[in-house]
Amino acid sequence: MIQQRKRRLAILGATGSVGRSTLAVVAANPDRFEIDAVAAGRDAAGLAVAARRVGARFAALADPSQYAALKAELSGSGIEAAAGEDAVIAAATGESELVVAAISGVAGLRSTFAAVQRGVSVAIANKESLVCAGTALMRSAAAAGTVILPMDSEHNALFQALGDTPRERIAELILTASGGPFRSWSAERIALATPEQALAHPNWSMGAKVTIDSASLMNKGLELIEAHHLFGVPAEQLGVLVHPQSIVHGLVRFRDGALLAGLAPHDMCVPIAHCLGFPDRIASGAATLDLAAIATLQFEQPDLGRFPALALATSVLRAGGAAPTVLNAANEVAVAAFLAGRIGFGHIPAVVEATLEKAVGRISMAEPDGIEEALAVDHISRKLAADAAEERLSLAR
Ligand code: MG
Repeated sequence: MIQQRKRRLAILGATGSVGRSTLAVVAANPDRFEIDAVAAGRDAAGLAVAARRVGARFAALADPSQYAALKAELSGSGIEAAAGEDAVIAAATGESELVVAAISGVAGLRSTFAAVQRGVSVAIANKESLVCAGTALMRSAAAAGTVILPMDSEHNALFQALGDTPRERIAELILTASGGPFRSWSAERIALATPEQALAHPNWSMGAKVTIDSASLMNKGLELIEAHHLFGVPAEQLGVLVHPQSIVHGLVRFRDGALLAGLAPHDMCVPIAHCLGFPDRIASGAATLDLAAIATLQFEQPDLGRFPALALATSVLRAGGAAPTVLNAANEVAVAAFLAGRIGFGHIPAVVEATLEKAVGRISMAEPDGIEEALAVDHISRKLAADAAEERLSLAR
């Protein structure tokens, strides 16, 4: 067998759910990869364990106050430690050939952009960077010759089903949604759901933010905006189907009526392995999908009445401009307020909608032309969303 040169990776968000699954896929393919850099938010001990396990050259934490802790955890390892936003950028722009952008939320924006500008391969799990500044991000990627690999499971399935298909042959791209823990709940019950109930996802084990977004279906709305930018397809040609088994992740409907579906077990290691190995196929460690045991695949239309977040995100996708950036910021603030027990689950879409209304007239609603504009819109939107959340609270008193 010919000895293959190892692919050098940077893993941003190494201590999160996608980051840990990425490290598991790397561990399952020891001859394929070496790790240039790992980065995380503030978990010094967790990052040090990951860096030591894979023999990283460089480890970076976003939180500068954790520098001493990281340095101590890595002492004697020979792994370089750094902290602060510039350190995370350095992790994204080191000697890697493939960057896994898996930091959750708008916190991942700068490092994702830095990676995309290098002309290497970037596997994007940070959907917020595409939602907030998708046009600018895809333009930067094209200018630099960067290969964008979608790591989000639905987009990864669509990417695989699409291949090199010219866009004019496509009628529709359909993303599936599990429906989350409240798929069969009444609107009244959903409005009063607790964080514990919203965090109990039936199929996927993920970080808190995306799990709450999956319960409200905001996640699917963000993913429609993500798909619009990744695949250059307009809102009219993007659809959602609720599919409780989470086996079919995405479907491409062609002009002639034929459909190609992407099926996989609901295990993030599958899309991660696809991105890490692309265009080759490598072991993911996922269990073999037993379709006979699953036996039935169900599909249904999403209920926009019970899940208004999806309706909001769809209208924001159609509106375009800065609206998706505002929606994303407002949703991050609302989800944090819900997880902190400050607002109810039913208030999440209400806060997002109120923020979008407040933004008109206060913010230029033109599409952000780059990362700085997107971050400026994000910053103001967070303040407006905090006000909107406070107003919900005083209404409830
Ligand atoms: Mg997804």
